[in-house]
Amino acid sequence: MIYRENTRNKDQLSILGFGCMRFPQKDGKIDEVRSTQMLKQAIDGGVNYLDTAWPYHAGQSEAFLGRFFKKTGLRNQIFLATKLPIWLCRNRNDFDKYINKQLVKLNTDYIDYYLMHMFTSYGNYKNLCDMGLKEYLKSIKDSGKAKNVGFSFHGEKSDFIKIVDDYDWDFCQIQYNILDINNQAGRDGLLHANKKGIPVIIMEPLRGGALANNIPQKVLDLIDKAGIKKTPVELFLSWVMNHKEATVVLSGMSHEDHIENNLEIASDIDGKIKEEEQVVIDEIIDVFVKSFKVPCTGCGYCIDCPKEIDIPRCFEVYNHISSGGFLGTLMQIGISGKTLNKARECIQCGKCEKHCPQSIDIINQLNIISSKWYIRLLFPITNWYMEKRGKKTYKK
Ligand code: SF4
Ligand code: SF4
Repeated sequence: MIYRENTRNKDQLSILGFGCMRFPQKDGKIDEVRSTQMLKQAIDGGVNYLDTAWPYHAGQSEAFLGRFFKKTGLRNQIFLATKLPIWLCRNRNDFDKYINKQLVKLNTDYIDYYLMHMFTSYGNYKNLCDMGLKEYLKSIKDSGKAKNVGFSFHGEKSDFIKIVDDYDWDFCQIQYNILDINNQAGRDGLLHANKKGIPVIIMEPLRGGALANNIPQKVLDLIDKAGIKKTPVELFLSWVMNHKEATVVLSGMSHEDHIENNLEIASDIDGKIKEEEQVVIDEIIDVFVKSFKVPCTGCGYCIDCPKEIDIPRCFEVYNHISSGGFLGTLMQIGISGKTLNKARECIQCGKCEKHCPQSIDIINQLNIISSKWYIRLLFPITNWYMEKRGKKTYKK
């Protein structure tokens, strides 16, 4: 196992972190016997970072980890990360209420890495600041309930950078993989946080399994032709881990074999991406992008839109929705619905299309997005709910 130092506090963190949201299940609940063995297998292999959250396994992930620590006495060997469910917090008291409940569930007196779960925009972060977030973060560190405070992020790069710059964060967590180099916080966000000395935890290194299952034959052929003796998962995961700016890379392991494979990958990391592998990765990205509904690479040449439509983000979310199921659609709408809704404001000036190296019919694609059921149906519902709560509604 390779360990990377958290330069702010000298913690030695395993490059492979265990994402505790996909434990095997039995009778609709976490299979605790098997999951306990799996956690032990990972810890024996050198994993020392466990990442959970309030909603994982419908609230059962934290409680299971609490029982795991009690049974095994392994709490002090682990850097434990969990997250404040910010969407459930209505006021400053709720912040305290949730961390206190989490400490009980986790059967511990402290959380090593405590994240604000899923900032989606700077406005979202500012709303929490208005509720007393900064004072709260200081208070949980002063009391020892949390040793490090950070946030996880799914949103636009510019918002990520503003949030990073607005507070003295101990760490942060972003989505990063071969298909998200230019999406969300992306590589620029990773480098920005790293330059400021903020450790970055990586989530979704295989894009929620999309880079592990149903890999196109063309991708397999490219790897084979290049003489690379790695499976797609080995290639994609090691590519992320070989970013020296990544402190921990999380994997939501749901099977003993995943742990075995990932432990092997994590022991063979040298912090450099081999040139010949990068060449193949670039070709593979091209294959994946062409298989998307809209073959947008996220290059950002079209971002100067007079209506401030975030075109690459609209296409990223649309591609996600098109390849995901109903629940995935709801999640994407929850995270990025506001961005997607802006597609309806296009005035068809054509400025963006002139700059697109992929020759995408951007105006037409935005029009298609605007006519989708989730835009036409979900926004009136969302607006009704937000109005009810006295919040600003999306544009109608
Ligand atoms: S055509 Fe639409 S999306 Fe493109 S720049 Fe003009 S307003 Fe923006
Ligand atoms: S210019 Fe084209 S490929 Fe680049 S981000 Fe915009 S739509 Fe995507």
